[in-house]
Amino acid sequence: MTTQYDAVVVGAGFGGMGAAIQLKRLGHHNLLILEREHDLGGTWHVNRYPGLAVDIPSSTYSYSFEPNPHWSRLFAPGAELKRYAEHVAGKYGLRESMRFGTVVTGATWDEDERHWRVSIDGGETVTATYLLTATGFLSQPKMPDIAGIGSFGGTVVHTTAWDDSADLDGKRVAIIGTGATAVQLIPELAKRAGDLTVYQRTPIWVSSKPDYRIPRALRTLFAKAPLVQRAVRVAGSSLLELMMISGVVHYKQLRFTNQIAQRWCRAHLHRQVRDPELRRALTPDYSFGCKRPTFSNDYFPTFTKPHVHLETTTIDRIDRTGVVTADGRRTDIDVLVLATGFNLWDVNFPAFEVIGRGGKDLGKWWRENRFQAYQGVTVPGFPNFLSLNSPYSYSGLSYFTTIECQMKHMRRLFTAMHDRGAGVFEITQRANDEFLKRMSAKVTENSVFSLGQCATSRSYYFNQHGEATLLRPTSTISAHREASGFPLEHYAYEARSGS
Ligand code: NAP
Repeated sequence: MTTQYDAVVVGAGFGGMGAAIQLKRLGHHNLLILEREHDLGGTWHVNRYPGLAVDIPSSTYSYSFEPNPHWSRLFAPGAELKRYAEHVAGKYGLRESMRFGTVVTGATWDEDERHWRVSIDGGETVTATYLLTATGFLSQPKMPDIAGIGSFGGTVVHTTAWDDSADLDGKRVAIIGTGATAVQLIPELAKRAGDLTVYQRTPIWVSSKPDYRIPRALRTLFAKAPLVQRAVRVAGSSLLELMMISGVVHYKQLRFTNQIAQRWCRAHLHRQVRDPELRRALTPDYSFGCKRPTFSNDYFPTFTKPHVHLETTTIDRIDRTGVVTADGRRTDIDVLVLATGFNLWDVNFPAFEVIGRGGKDLGKWWRENRFQAYQGVTVPGFPNFLSLNSPYSYSGLSYFTTIECQMKHMRRLFTAMHDRGAGVFEITQRANDEFLKRMSAKVTENSVFSLGQCATSRSYYFNQHGEATLLRPTSTISAHREASGFPLEHYAYEARSGS
């Protein structure tokens, strides 16, 4: 059997596109990028809810090798991110390799042919030397398992499937969830709803947002002198790095900075909400950083409007006409908005069945052992496989830090393969075990996840065993250094005979 593609990349979001750009730079042009949605952009294609914007400064939330001088704001609206994704796909010739509306159902390593067999919904199978999954961390929407939710007779919208035709004007609207998505959406819903009830289970730490329109003159300067924008990027990245390192990764050593962040958010709330009872209800009882904090200038003031109600009593059930809380109170509504986030640990690691050497099932193995991946990228028993959304892969606050770190890892690994005339790589068990041990120790000994008060945070940073295995507990500088300098003997290399 011949192998059809150099590589199959699953996911046409920024992660998959970064990986595809790097593969092309490394000489692999015969690519297939499979995407379940009907267009590229990942998160920025799927999410279209009102108020959507990036909450990392745009100069930082973009590829460093493809700066965009045209961002309209410091924190660009979602539609600009989607346009940027389209621009990148066009400029780097990725669209020709993309197939949309294509759901991958599984992938199996074929030891005889030494390639991956990738199954697509509908029965087709494609083969590739390398398999890269870039299926995102936040790509499997979570539906709340609230009794009776299916019986609601009005309109139900999840934030990942926003329906522009849903009639909100003057309606009685309820929203479940107060994560980063809800923080952006709630002020917009309040502008249109006649009555808005926000069901909050866990409050979120919210900082003020230094969001400004970028003047045309500055945009022109960014276009003419990219170094100026690069300087802005470096400043933004450094600030985010400082927040991550001091508040989260090195909580043990720099606890006071975490407390400063908490005070900053409290002061923001205090300035915007005068009612002490409402303030108390909106104040988290867990340490800053246990769960993803966010930025907003109009979230808190929305709760001071007469037609907006914060409901903190647990939802007991939903019936045909409304929501009933555990104390028996009912609120009749016309529209139910679910800002209930994503399921990571049950269904997204990995996003489809991946079978490696000797029938090793990645999802089963992760669940029966521990969630782990060498440098957040490769797993023993899975040759020629790069799992880009793996445990311990997310580094820093901007996802582009992670993407570019992984691109560096790819460069080093594929160059080593080329130098050796090899066609198959696999991370050694020993290198993987050492990495896991090192990351686990860092989480346990230094981070807010084990030393802070995270018990009540209900954070998706923690897996079902209570371990914080999503974020890489190191500085991004260290992550980048290791990506471009990991010991080459950490991998085993073999020739690819039989192709
Ligand atoms: P999320 O942070 O997981 O929040 C989900 C919300 O729904 C939480 O408040 C959760 O409450 C609530 N919820 C879930 N199930 C519930 C139930 N059965 N009953 C009551 N409440 C329930 O999801 P998200 O807000 O969509 O944000 C996910 C991530 O997307 C963010 O952390 C961020 O990384 C990213 N994001 C980024 C941007 C950006 O601009 N870059 C914007 C938006 C989102 P509990 O906390 O109590 O579970």
